[in-house]
Amino acid sequence: MVRIRPTMGLNSVLDQVEILKEAIDPVERVYKALEKIEASRELNAFVTIDAEGALRKAEEIKRKIARGEILGRLAGLIVAVKDNISTRGLRTTCSSKMLENYIPVYDATVIEKIKAEDAIIIGKTNMDEFAMGSSTETSFFGPTRNFFDHSRVAGGSSGGSAVAVACGAVDIALGSDTGGSIRNPAAFNSIVGLKPTYGRVSRYGLIAYASSLDQIGPMAKNTLSTALLLQVIAGWDPRDSTTLNKPVPNYVEEALKETSGLKVGVIKEGFDNVDKKVSEKAYDALEALKRVGCLVEEVSMPFMKYALPAYYIIAMAECSSNLARFDGIRYGGKPVKGKWEEQLVKIRTECFGEEAKRRIFLGTFVLSAGYKEDFYIKACRVRRRIYDEFKLLLKNYNALAMPTMPVLPWKIGELLSPLEIYMMDIETVAVNLAGLPAISIPAGFVNSLPVGLQLIGDHFDEATLLRISYAYENETGFTKWF
Ligand code: GLN
Repeated sequence: MVRIRPTMGLNSVLDQVEILKEAIDPVERVYKALEKIEASRELNAFVTIDAEGALRKAEEIKRKIARGEILGRLAGLIVAVKDNISTRGLRTTCSSKMLENYIPVYDATVIEKIKAEDAIIIGKTNMDEFAMGSSTETSFFGPTRNFFDHSRVAGGSSGGSAVAVACGAVDIALGSDTGGSIRNPAAFNSIVGLKPTYGRVSRYGLIAYASSLDQIGPMAKNTLSTALLLQVIAGWDPRDSTTLNKPVPNYVEEALKETSGLKVGVIKEGFDNVDKKVSEKAYDALEALKRVGCLVEEVSMPFMKYALPAYYIIAMAECSSNLARFDGIRYGGKPVKGKWEEQLVKIRTECFGEEAKRRIFLGTFVLSAGYKEDFYIKACRVRRRIYDEFKLLLKNYNALAMPTMPVLPWKIGELLSPLEIYMMDIETVAVNLAGLPAISIPAGFVNSLPVGLQLIGDHFDEATLLRISYAYENETGFTKWF
């Protein structure tokens, strides 16, 4: 296995070649991964498996090793990709009937980048339809099951990516996070998931849900793999004008740095609506942060309570516009006979799931003349206040902390009303409104079900989050909880 040795310094590509040579053959690794995927079929983590493509890549790596060529930084690592990230020649469905047979003709920038670093993409993972949901239950292909309890949800919307990592089928995975979709399933499956700063990672080729909130990010069982994947995918992209041309730090080296003296502010309001047992675990995790030298104190963010309604107004407004392209002509469905309007109505009625439709309706409503001021504009004002409150706190604290999820993973089908499910995002959405980076790290178990602690950093300061995560990982040994 290609292991990242903390002492190694990942810049030394030669070191990595050495490791790969002495390690298991990449082709063998692909077969092992395929076996694990097969053994975990019941979890429904994958929508599409690309055994052929993965084997082709593994053979290419073998040839490179034989010729003594320099290998990429992800050489031999098995990667799962959320099914809303475009992969050339490989079906990309967004877990929707609308895109059931859609095969992109180009790669997303993040895919180009991981391919160039010799990653082996093994398949595309299940998700909530168009990333709209918190449990992977809105997928057209059925829910993904929680790794620790198969009768419960995996979290979402990147549930498939989280479970692919948790069950050991892949080393690392890509997810996307608009209002918590990386952090939520990471917490529910006891892995690490990082939502980067808005603008840190290119969204080119990510099928848009809410463009001012969406961000692609890494998921893995440990901090250094998360750091390495972030390092590869981060950076300016001329094809995404919202990315910033700012140097990308060596996140792996950053993660190894000392944590003593770092100040962590615990957001009081982040515990207001949280299950008591989940809060207790989060507090235990904060004690572990103290043991690695962090100074932990309570802080307050009064506007936190308005984050959820503001988020849902903004996200739905943006999605109602983004989803307009699925009309059977530009994208989605199969062409049917008849007038254009008839075709449009037929395809959108048949191919969008219930949740996607609900959001298109609500989004169109909040943007409509006469209501825009009351809803959309007001939500944008709240967004600004939340941003200001975060920025003020981050002047004095290196990171902020609160639980990732308010509850434990629920039973599949247990939460019936849409509002009940929206409420599950109460801890995660504020971060997206402010464009900040945040990480979810494993915080132990309640009744054998995982809990996650969320750490929030200042813009473009993913390094500090990874640094705290790595020290905490060494202190708690959370990678051994599987
Ligand atoms: N659960 C949130 C929503 O449905 C967030 C989803 C996401 O981050 N993609 O909007």
